[in-house]
Amino acid sequence: MRRKIVAGNWKMNKSFPDAEELIAEIADKLESMDTGHQDVILCPPYVYLEMATDIAEESVFSVGSQNMNENDTGAYTGEISGPMLTSMEVEYCIIGHSERRKYFGEDYALLAKKVDAALRNGIRPIFCCGEVLPEREAGRHFEIVKKQLDESLFHLTAEQFQQAVIAYEPVWAIGTGVNATPAQAQEMHAYIREQVASKYGESLASETSILYGGSCNASNARELFSQADVDGGLIGGASLKADEFLRIVTSF
Ligand code: PEP
Repeated sequence: MRRKIVAGNWKMNKSFPDAEELIAEIADKLESMDTGHQDVILCPPYVYLEMATDIAEESVFSVGSQNMNENDTGAYTGEISGPMLTSMEVEYCIIGHSERRKYFGEDYALLAKKVDAALRNGIRPIFCCGEVLPEREAGRHFEIVKKQLDESLFHLTAEQFQQAVIAYEPVWAIGTGVNATPAQAQEMHAYIREQVASKYGESLASETSILYGGSCNASNARELFSQADVDGGLIGGASLKADEFLRIVTSF
């Protein structure tokens, strides 16, 4: 059965004490919640990952990084590798976030290598895809998302692909307060599932978790998550406060 997932992408936010307090509060509150039907993933900045995995050991949430280098070791000053993440028990990595595509020039080929590096190290990629506003306005959103999947994810074998989570994040909805409507999200998620089915077969497609991201919050999560092909969310701004984030976690 495919998993319901809510993942928090903290981006470049929080001091160490604030991050520790937030993770501890989430862990504490999760203890008294019934989270048997959904997975909770926290993706804080790199420098807080070890603290997060320490707390996660006694809790039900998993930890993901927001990025990783495509190489396993070497002279790449300032970079973080898959083996480093694995050695801190990090289980997931966000790959292909639109901010990395836009500000760090991460292209299709590089993202494919990052997906490979994650899997090579036993890390599950949360692969982000999504169109910018002019692409949607031009009616090109399906074509753009298909290209992103084809170029950076669909080179995987079926066995590898099983480890992947997909996040549809229309770029025009990220951090803008304008979420995709539930109908728009459902339409694209169904399309993505169809693409997975035509590449890997119906059975694998029906097992793939496809998350929605883009101004998802405690007020709109329930309606978004009630769509047949929306299996949860990748949450940015609304993941930075424990109560709001946990209300999203319980929005199924
Ligand atoms: C994100 O950046 O992954 C995201 C979904 O951000 P926000 O929820 O703030 O729109």
